Amino acid sequence: MTSYRNFRNQLNAGETSCTKAVSEAFQKIDETQGLNAYLTLLHERSEQKATEVDQKLKDGTAGRLAGMLVAVKDNIALKNALLTCGSKILEDFVSLYSATTLERLEAADAIILGKTNLDEFAMGSSNENSYFGPALNPLDTERVPGGSSGGSAVAVASGTVHAALGSETGGSVRQPAAFTGLVGVKPTYGRLSRYGLVAFASSLDQIGTFARTTYDAALLLQTMAGYDPNDATSSSQPVPDYTAACDNAEVAGMKIGIPDEYFVEGMDESIVEAINELKEKLIEAGAGITEVSLPHTEYVIPTYYVIATAEASSNLARYDGARYGYRSPNATDLEEMYEMSRSEGFGEEVQRRIMLGTFVLSSGYYDAYYRKAQQVRTLICRDFEKVFADVDLILTPTTPTVAFKLVAKINDPLSMYLSDVFTAGANIAGIPAISVPYGLDATTGLPLGAQLMAPHFAEERLFKGGAWIEKGRS
Ligand code: GLN
Repeated sequence: MTSYRNFRNQLNAGETSCTKAVSEAFQKIDETQGLNAYLTLLHERSEQKATEVDQKLKDGTAGRLAGMLVAVKDNIALKNALLTCGSKILEDFVSLYSATTLERLEAADAIILGKTNLDEFAMGSSNENSYFGPALNPLDTERVPGGSSGGSAVAVASGTVHAALGSETGGSVRQPAAFTGLVGVKPTYGRLSRYGLVAFASSLDQIGTFARTTYDAALLLQTMAGYDPNDATSSSQPVPDYTAACDNAEVAGMKIGIPDEYFVEGMDESIVEAINELKEKLIEAGAGITEVSLPHTEYVIPTYYVIATAEASSNLARYDGARYGYRSPNATDLEEMYEMSRSEGFGEEVQRRIMLGTFVLSSGYYDAYYRKAQQVRTLICRDFEKVFADVDLILTPTTPTVAFKLVAKINDPLSMYLSDVFTAGANIAGIPAISVPYGLDATTGLPLGAQLMAPHFAEERLFKGGAWIEKGRS
C-alpha cells in the first residue's frame, strides 16, 4: 500500500476512489486475518463513509484526510462500536460516544476501518497480554509486533490501512513502530485530547500515530491536535503545520545530543552500529552532535512501574461488575461479585499491576514507593530540561533489541518491562518523541528504529529531523 499522500494525489486526479480503496482494504484484511491485527471490523460504517467522501471529492468539499484509511486501537472509544481494551472484562462493551480524536478524524473525512488488537488495557510490550490472542509481526510471524499497540502497528505494516492510532503510556507506539518498520509518534502530554481514551495511567497516557511516512504521521497528528473542553489536561497551544516541517527536512545547524546512558549492556550490536552511522551522516549534513547526559535514566523503568501501576490500580477500580462490563455468574453475594468479576475478568498482567499499584499506594508504603517515585520523576524531568537548554533534539535508539520471538519474554515480566528503557523517559517527562525506521539488522533483516525526543510542544523539530532521516534512508 502506498502512503496517504500518494493516495490523495491519485484521488484528486480521479485515478481511484475511496469505495475502491475500502473494498481492497477489506480484501487485504481477509488475506492477512492470521496476523490477528483487528478485533472489530467496521464494514458498513466505512463503506458508507467512503461513498460520502467520494461524493465530497466530486463536489470539491472533501476534508483534509479525505479517504485516509485508519485503524484504531481498541482502547479508544468509537460511538456504537465495541471497546474491549483487549480484555474479557469489556468483551461485550459498546461505547456510547466517540473520542474527540476520532470525531476530528471523521470530520476531516478519514475512514475508520476497524478497531485493533492490544495488550489488555495497554499493559504490555508484545501484544501477548491480549485476551484475544497475540497479533503477529507481518515481517516474521514467529515474532511479536511489539506492544501494547501491536494490532495498530500490524494493521499498517501489513498494508491494510494508511495509518493507525495507538496509545502511549511508556512506549506503546514507538516500540511497535520500531519492530514493524513504521513511523511512530508520541506527542507532548496535552497535545491530543484523551477524552475517550480508556485510562491506564492518566499522567502518562497519550494517543499516538502510526504511519508509513513522517508526512502522513504529521498530517494525522495536526488534524487531531488542539484544545478540547472535554479534557482539562489538553493544551490550547496553537497547532503548527507539522507537514511543512516534514517538507522542510533539514538538520544543518541543528544541535543534537546523544546520551551515553542510552547505550546499555545486552543491546543488539546492529542497533548501536546504526545509531553510530546515523551520527556520522548527521555530522556530514552539518548538524552539531554532542554527547549529553541524562543521569537518572537507570531509574526510568522503576519509576515508571511505580507511577503507572499506582494510577492503574485506581483507574481500574471502576470495573467492579456492577456498573458495566463482565459480571461473574458465580457470585452469591456483593463482595463475591466484586472479587469474582475482577478475578475472572482481568488477565494475569493486569492483576499483577493492580496489586503492585495498590501496594505502593498503601499507607505503610506510600512514602517509600509512591512519593519517592514522584520525587525521582522530577529529577528525570530536570535531566531533560538541562539537556534541552543546550540541544534541539536528543537522538537514541528506540529499543534495545529488534522484534523478539513470541513467548520469549512472557514468563519474565522484568525482561519484558525493559523493552521500554529508551521510551518511557519521554512519557515520564511528558515530552514528544518519534521513532523512525533506520536500517535493517544484518542477521535477521528486521527493521531498526531511531528515536528523536524534543522539548514540550516542539513536535515540529521531531518531524524536521525525522523526515531528514527518512530521506536519507530512501
Ligand atoms: N510496555 C509498557 C507497559 O507495559 C508501556 C505500555 C504502554 O505504553 N501503554 O506498561
